[in-house]
Amino acid sequence: MVEEILPEIYRMEIPLPNNPLKSLNSYVIKGGERNLIIDTGMNRKECRIAMEAGLAALDVDLERTDIFITHMHADHSGLVFELARPAAKLYCSREDAAIINAGDSLWGAMQVFMQTGGFPREEFAAAIRKHPGYKYRAVGEKPFTIVKEGDTLEVGGYRLSCLETPGHTRGHLCLYEAEQKLFFAGDHILRDITPNISLWSYRVNPLAEYLGSLDRVGGCEIRLVLPGHRKLFSDPGERIAELKAHHRARAEEVLRILAEAGPMDAYRVASFMTWDIDCPSFRDFPIPQRWFATGEALAHLKYLEEISLVKREEAGGTYLFSAPRRPSSVLL
Ligand SMILES: [Zn+2]
Repeated sequence: MVEEILPEIYRMEIPLPNNPLKSLNSYVIKGGERNLIIDTGMNRKECRIAMEAGLAALDVDLERTDIFITHMHADHSGLVFELARPAAKLYCSREDAAIINAGDSLWGAMQVFMQTGGFPREEFAAAIRKHPGYKYRAVGEKPFTIVKEGDTLEVGGYRLSCLETPGHTRGHLCLYEAEQKLFFAGDHILRDITPNISLWSYRVNPLAEYLGSLDRVGGCEIRLVLPGHRKLFSDPGERIAELKAHHRARAEEVLRILAEAGPMDAYRVASFMTWDIDCPSFRDFPIPQRWFATGEALAHLKYLEEISLVKREEAGGTYLFSAPRRPSSVLL
């Protein structure tokens, strides 16, 4: 499905079968000299077919098309190498471009990390094999044109500024068009779903980064948000407030769990958290959902650790978390 949003700006709906995200919004901006595709869909047949049909309907010549990747997740970057023609510039942040080009080494490192979170060892192999980010990743390696805060791209009469919005991934980028007040949000702000915030290294604090990035976007004047998934929307202020309240409630839930039943590892914390999924118990969640849940629990635990509300101690290769004092009501 292709929809015209504004003159020369189009949305292509790329299906993501059997995935709770349902579909990806890939945007095309047609320009005189060169076109720009923003995000691509996964490296899988269904996405490829929809992408080819969309580009054909818009009469887009890939030989004159560059690609902007908001972040490294496979639903946004999976087809980047396949769509890229020799002259194409592939724009991405330094951090996320490195991950796309890192190949399989990344997944080994993730296993080691998830062991510290208490994810069951015997399920590592299946967790990776079934992970959509692994199954449908961009395969290959190509140089990216690295973009950062304040860099601008001009296409189709629009001037797009890069806005660094770390949190959902370390190198997540949004694009802001100041004249029309358009905001290409990637997965930073979604209206109908909550972007996943996961921890993959104890050296970073992605939830704190995410909340900071929400505040940054809150300072922009925005007329229309063009998100990576689901419907376009206006007035992101209300949604930003909801997302902040969501993470505050999540952090409070984690603290309550630890105060009542800690110390425990992150996998066990995740098993006590409430999840919007139709399964009788945490053990019945599909493996990838338990993997995401553990990553999300870890992001909240790390956030709480950094503000000294949670303590982390090593016990045989796994970290145990505890809440040394009663939950505070003012967290975020
Ligand atoms: Zn994403």
